[in-house]
Amino acid sequence: MHLRAILKRFKIVTSSINAFYRNALVSPTNIKLYNMSLVVVGSMAFDAIETPFGKSDKIIGGAGTYIAWCASNYTAVKQISVVGGDFPELELTALTIRNVDLEGVQIKKDEKTFFWSGRYHLDMNSRDTLETQLNVLENFQPVVPESYQDCEFLMLGNLAPSVQRSVIEQLKNRPKLIIMDTMNFWMEIAMDDLKKTISMVDVLMVNDSEARQLSGEFSLVKAAKSILQMGPKYLIIKKGEHGALLFHENKVFFAPALPLEEVFDPTGAGDTFAGGFIGHIAKTKDISFNNMKTAIIVGSAMASFCVEKFGTQRLREINKADIDSRIAEFVQLVNFNIDLV
Ligand code: AMP
Repeated sequence: MHLRAILKRFKIVTSSINAFYRNALVSPTNIKLYNMSLVVVGSMAFDAIETPFGKSDKIIGGAGTYIAWCASNYTAVKQISVVGGDFPELELTALTIRNVDLEGVQIKKDEKTFFWSGRYHLDMNSRDTLETQLNVLENFQPVVPESYQDCEFLMLGNLAPSVQRSVIEQLKNRPKLIIMDTMNFWMEIAMDDLKKTISMVDVLMVNDSEARQLSGEFSLVKAAKSILQMGPKYLIIKKGEHGALLFHENKVFFAPALPLEEVFDPTGAGDTFAGGFIGHIAKTKDISFNNMKTAIIVGSAMASFCVEKFGTQRLREINKADIDSRIAEFVQLVNFNIDLV
């Protein structure tokens, strides 16, 4: 090809990448300031979802995928996961363009990607798992690349607790903050293992029914007390459209969810919440209780985008202006002054 034609093509590619970064919260230059030390572990998957409003074919999902799409608005991400040969290369490229490092993602050419399918009830707050095909996840042994050893913040997305633990154990230095998400599936089949991993983390995220299942307590305040005795210093209880609670010692903070006219598909909302939470913490490098309150608002705002369309679709469309105005809506929602009389 003629040199001028090559340069022209190169210019088109770089200008579209630059346009992408103009819309994102982080640019390739300011990412360097953040030390590139957020490591995310989680499933990358195919999902099939049924809601009262529609049904999706096999679409891209997975806890790690949602976390990466969301957190990469705030900082660079180093991803640990596994996919099969059937996982589209384009999806991996899309993440790379967003500064998600995939060195820690194993590609098992002859195997199939993890598959999950679920059906939501009319209230959209509860769902049934219809099918879980572990496939590549069945024998997944994560390997932490040497270049991930600078990990300052570790986000353990939903995966087998032994896999989550293996990542903690492979890190030579303990990260500044370890956050863990999990689900009822692991409580049912691997409770002892789960408790072992929970005892090693700083922040645990679960939803309200999982908090009850894990603690054996119905009251969420009692459940929180009992879970905080298992090891984590902070506990976040997600309550879907009813917001989220943050517990630490004797303190508690509550953030509502944005009242939305339509919730199209809640899949991944919890993971997106986690991505916003850890993205904000990793960007600010501040692990105080006060900053965690802000991080919960950021997580809630990001989750409110996720539910607006099927799968990761909405997360791919939003830019910094969308995020800023959504966070401003949150501030309006919760800001009030009281004059005591
Ligand atoms: P969420 O709606 O935030 O609970 O997360 C939904 C995502 O979790 C889906 O995209 C699934 O692919 C993924 N997922 C469901 N079950 C599991 C599991 N047992 N292990 C890992 N990821 C899972």
